[in-house]
Amino acid sequence: MKNALIVSKFGGTSMGDLTAMDRSAVITLERNSTLVVVSATSGTTDKLIQIAKSASKGEIEECEKLVFAIKERHQAMINELPKNQLAFECLQSYFTEIDLLVQNISLLKELTPKAHDHILSLGERMSSLLFREVLQNKAPNKKVLLLDARTIIKTDSNFGKATPLINVIAEKCNQLDINCLYVTQGFIGSDMDGNTTILGRGGSDYSAALFAEGLKANVLEIWTDVAGIATTDPRICSKAKIIPEISYAEAGEMAQYGAKVLHPATIAPAVRQSIPVFVGSSFEKDLPGTWIKAEIQHRPAVRAITKRSNQTLLTISNPNMLNAYGFMGEIFDLFGKHRISVDCVTTSEISIAVTVDNTTLENTDFMQDLNLVGKIDVETGYSLISLIGNDLFSRSNLAKSIFTCVDETSIRMMSLGASSYNFNFLIKDEESKTCIQKLHSTLIEGSL
Ligand code: ADP
Ligand code: ASP
Ligand code: MG
Repeated sequence: MKNALIVSKFGGTSMGDLTAMDRSAVITLERNSTLVVVSATSGTTDKLIQIAKSASKGEIEECEKLVFAIKERHQAMINELPKNQLAFECLQSYFTEIDLLVQNISLLKELTPKAHDHILSLGERMSSLLFREVLQNKAPNKKVLLLDARTIIKTDSNFGKATPLINVIAEKCNQLDINCLYVTQGFIGSDMDGNTTILGRGGSDYSAALFAEGLKANVLEIWTDVAGIATTDPRICSKAKIIPEISYAEAGEMAQYGAKVLHPATIAPAVRQSIPVFVGSSFEKDLPGTWIKAEIQHRPAVRAITKRSNQTLLTISNPNMLNAYGFMGEIFDLFGKHRISVDCVTTSEISIAVTVDNTTLENTDFMQDLNLVGKIDVETGYSLISLIGNDLFSRSNLAKSIFTCVDETSIRMMSLGASSYNFNFLIKDEESKTCIQKLHSTLIEGSL
């Protein structure tokens, strides 16, 4: 019997090559994990997206180049491993699947949502196959089972960003043997008709959390390329510090507002089952990392700063809104209907301004619907900066410190008040790096 039931997730860089897989295997075996969720090898999902797009435009040469690169990388990896005919044949069948999908998409010059999700699933299916081999070779006496995540992570049919069916997943997880070691894919699931679906970019963290919830795990571990959750993205600010402990609420806000280290949906399943989440680096496994828990003793005013790039500000105006009601309801119904999430909102007498991801502009049905409600102004090139912390309403000097830091920056929009955990403002993307560095220096380094 195992002492603690651990679900571990390894991201793309932790699957990047056989050396990285080897490190990840050492961690899995040391921790005695029950189920390991893996991402595609780094960069593969981006390539698969490009392949799907190029195929739909009939750009055959570009497609062939990218398909060749994916095949070559994964083939080289399996060639380095001790020979296992079954795994070898399975990898070849995945290559054939990619070829067939490309042929079909390019023949019809149409990329259906179903075909899109199906082709993207191949990244995780290839990496999990290879990682199972690595693990099995490291632990010959253990039975390492490859689990098709699509048999467990059941979702609705919203291709591209499907919603998991929590109760069905819980039932399916009950059928797993918790004394085994499973390797499975993050990011992918299937709908009730058996079609492959995906959970959205970066969704492997979410998959791992869903498995942890379904298995009632004691711990969920997210192994990545940074040594935990930092006070800001270390790529933006070299002085960012790893946060040893953080609450579910703060980590959830950080993920929601752009800290890529966690997919925004990861926290909810952990909260539902009170599962502590560990975030650490598979490259430096012995560092203390970050623990995400329900209650944390240390509750600083500003814990972290996040950034969501590629933001667009949509301002919808309608003079009929003056002294009228129902206008906001109408607008938000449209966002709901088109499944578009809004991060930040402000209103005036006759207009409402909302921030959305730039990709929203590509949704022509939504933009047409919105045009029927009022006049739309579109401003692009923004980043949403969020200060994440505790009791932000009641910190009397905070606003002064913030405005001192951003005095040379023009703030286009801001919001404070809906949650005591965050303060958001929208600035031009090119000003965001310097702004974050200044805020970090004053509000975080200053109080460490
Ligand atoms: P994985 O492939 O392991 O899921 P990701 O690239 O999705 O890894 O997430 C890890 C990256 O998240 C880091 O390399 C880092 O640049 C970025 N990141 C953004 N914000 C933060 C933060 N606050 N703390 C740590 N990493 C962050
Ligand atoms: N491979 C998927 C992506 O790149 C999922 C993940 O890595 O979490 O978005
Ligand atoms: Mg990720």
